[in-house]
Amino acid sequence: MRANPIFILFCLVLLVACTDGRNAVKLHTSQIFVFGTLVDITFWDVDEALRERVVAVISQDFQRMHHEWHPWNPGPLLTLNQALARGEAAEAPDSLIPLIIQSRDLSAQSGGLFNPAIGSLLQLWGFQSSERPQGPPPSAEMIAAWRGQAPAMTDLELDGRLLRSRNPAVQLDFGAYAKGYAVDVAISHLQQRGIDNAIVNAGGDLRAIGSKDGQPWRIGIQHPQGEQEKLYAWLDVSAGEAVFTSGNYRRYREDQGIRYSHILDPRTGMPVDGVTSVTVIHHSGAIADAAATALVVAGPEQWEATALAMGIDQVMLVDDGGVVHMSPKMQQRVHFQDAPAVLKISEAFADEP
Ligand code: AMP
Ligand code: MG
Repeated sequence: MRANPIFILFCLVLLVACTDGRNAVKLHTSQIFVFGTLVDITFWDVDEALRERVVAVISQDFQRMHHEWHPWNPGPLLTLNQALARGEAAEAPDSLIPLIIQSRDLSAQSGGLFNPAIGSLLQLWGFQSSERPQGPPPSAEMIAAWRGQAPAMTDLELDGRLLRSRNPAVQLDFGAYAKGYAVDVAISHLQQRGIDNAIVNAGGDLRAIGSKDGQPWRIGIQHPQGEQEKLYAWLDVSAGEAVFTSGNYRRYREDQGIRYSHILDPRTGMPVDGVTSVTVIHHSGAIADAAATALVVAGPEQWEATALAMGIDQVMLVDDGGVVHMSPKMQQRVHFQDAPAVLKISEAFADEP
């Protein structure tokens, strides 16, 4: 594990604000606090009454998802996980069923690198907590014991709403993908009400529909330089695209100068090492979110094969050495503020349309 990497990318994707007077009148942003983050909903040319109505609906829906999907606060997911640990079948709440089905497929595509069945490992590492975990990491024996149980989404059987697990070590935690799923739900609420031009930005992860004044939405990618945040790159986001970033810069465990990532490798039970961040663009927020996490686990050696297996062709991976790895489609649209010292364009995607 590298201590204090010199180059820490902070991929907080922010809207590049537009400031001219006419835009200021038609551009509005509402904020909701949920999932431990501020969610900005930015509208282009939508009247106030409609904005207020849709923000109220999205807010209510987000709060419900937050409660029903929370892995450690009392609620339906915790109850479900407790039943699975006892080896019992239990009814999954309606809102969890599509998550279980889709994340099972995504987990399979990622070769198990994205694995929402690793709740007990996240708990072992102290990441199922609102506080930053303190103290030494779990012992090698505890991690080996977890590895021996190898919980996976393939252990689950869903029969209607009835969920059972062949493996009592399966504990569901959708932290790597629920935000993407929720952003998709919010976009559907907007579209159902005839709103065509908006961005839903959940703490830097976002999905955009339509455009702003006929122009694509332009978003910035930032990273800190000392105490300052500096614009790192920008790109235009077209209709319906989601941009999701996973990384170690916001959540981690630190002990004796060693930083442990909150993204864990299900093959080893250990935090991922060597990747600062991965940004993925895809038309689905849920898929982009799951893939960004999977590609952090895949790392500089395996990200291309994993992306191809997951149907992802727009990726930027920044490794701990500051080397920027990109798929050609991503490279075509990202504009760096200062060119990275080392940029590697993948050839694995060369024959992709
Ligand atoms: P994200 O910020 O989307 O990459 O999600 C990171 C969160 O996903 C972590 O804080 C954990 O709750 C969870 N997680 C960590 N590693 C994995 C993994 N390999 N597969 C699925 N979820 C994970
Ligand atoms: Mg993710």
